[in-house]
Amino acid sequence: MNPYEMFLKQVDEATPYLSVEPEYIEILKFPKEVLEVSIPLRLDDGEVKVLKGWRSHHNNALGPYKGGVRYHPNVTREEVIALSSWMTIKCATAQLPYGGGKGGISVNVRDLSPGETERLSRGYALAISRFMGTDIDIPAPDVYTNPQVMAWFVDTYEKIHGRSEPSCYTGKPVEAGGSLGRGDATSRGGMYVLREVLKQKGLIGKELKAAVQGFGNVGGFAHKLAVSELGIKIVAISDSHGGVYNPNGIDYYELRSHKSKTGSVAGFPGTEMITNEELMELDVDILIPAALEGVITDKNAPNIKASIVLELANGPTTPEADLILSEKGIEVVPDVLANAGGVTVSCFEWIQGRTGDYWTEEYVHQKLDEKLTIAFHEIWKIKEGNRIRMRQAAYVRAISRIIAAMRFKGIWP
Ligand code: NAD
Repeated sequence: MNPYEMFLKQVDEATPYLSVEPEYIEILKFPKEVLEVSIPLRLDDGEVKVLKGWRSHHNNALGPYKGGVRYHPNVTREEVIALSSWMTIKCATAQLPYGGGKGGISVNVRDLSPGETERLSRGYALAISRFMGTDIDIPAPDVYTNPQVMAWFVDTYEKIHGRSEPSCYTGKPVEAGGSLGRGDATSRGGMYVLREVLKQKGLIGKELKAAVQGFGNVGGFAHKLAVSELGIKIVAISDSHGGVYNPNGIDYYELRSHKSKTGSVAGFPGTEMITNEELMELDVDILIPAALEGVITDKNAPNIKASIVLELANGPTTPEADLILSEKGIEVVPDVLANAGGVTVSCFEWIQGRTGDYWTEEYVHQKLDEKLTIAFHEIWKIKEGNRIRMRQAAYVRAISRIIAAMRFKGIWP
């Protein structure tokens, strides 16, 4: 099942609990428009390579399209469409004034020099510039894109249009119009949601162990914040080179310094090397996938021992695996809620850029906590009331909101 088929299945699984007209569900099953671009990139040695990229607009019933841009060799049109569909659901879950969008380039950025990455980023920003803007579509970072890439994107857009428009992209460096608290927002939001789950299960304050897949923006901050905010011990963590394990816990700061020296978590002193596959099946309380989609499948789900899966990555669990985990009594906190902190603080950045009124970090944290705690409790109530999985409940709540707006606006022309 590819990610887009996963999305369709997830919508189907929520439909029986919704009282909405089937035609609106049908509309949600397709992206509104998808732009495919070819970007000629001049390499440092003078050769020109043409790379493919996309930007998908899934649905904008609740506001402009919103979603990240991914640089990864496995990016495809279908993946970008699926990720944009999940953004529609996520923005509605977090009650943001946005629809869903997503973009990506099929490229291995690790093969590019900083100069090549800048030229590629500016080429992409130019190619999609007529398809986006502050009130149309607001891209942000995703896998292998970061605040520096956002700064190149904004600069390119502003030069094309000859005006300052800071809110046309979010996830910018704070020095270039970004918001305080955006860097760790996805993981911080995940920790606020996890805190509420632990409260429901009477586990708050208990000694808990977790394993994290991914040590990038989301996985790295998840490690740091799980320890500092919730006192959870991180016993295993991985990246694309493999994972490391220490049952007594792994220090975030030492691991980060090891990764910045060596380029990977692999070989971190005092730990045992494990594979990404082994990490998923460790005997821990909480499993946090924070890298790529489709990593929990019907093959490994029967062996998962964690009692909570916090989906900080997008789409890490296939629908078959979701059912297996549910039958085993494992609580899966779905991506559309667990990782909604990133887009929520992106929304705060968008507001700050539009008003010129910049907020303190404490205020950003407080607003983020409020928004996600409210979303969590509404979803939990739907889940308990209908005896369904949290993902189904999140989709019920999100789709009800989206379709309520679509119904008022009507189908036109
Ligand atoms: P990132 O580029 O900062 O980090 C990605 C991490 O995944 C790296 O540690 C990399 O080594 C690891 N990785 C890559 N391929 C892997 C593989 N095959 N096996 C194991 N690990 C692998 O990206 P990120 O921003 O941290 O995004 C991670 C996930 O979180 C993605 O699913 C993304 O869509 C999702 N997400 C990100 C944000 C955000 O604000 N950045 C928001 C919501 C969701």
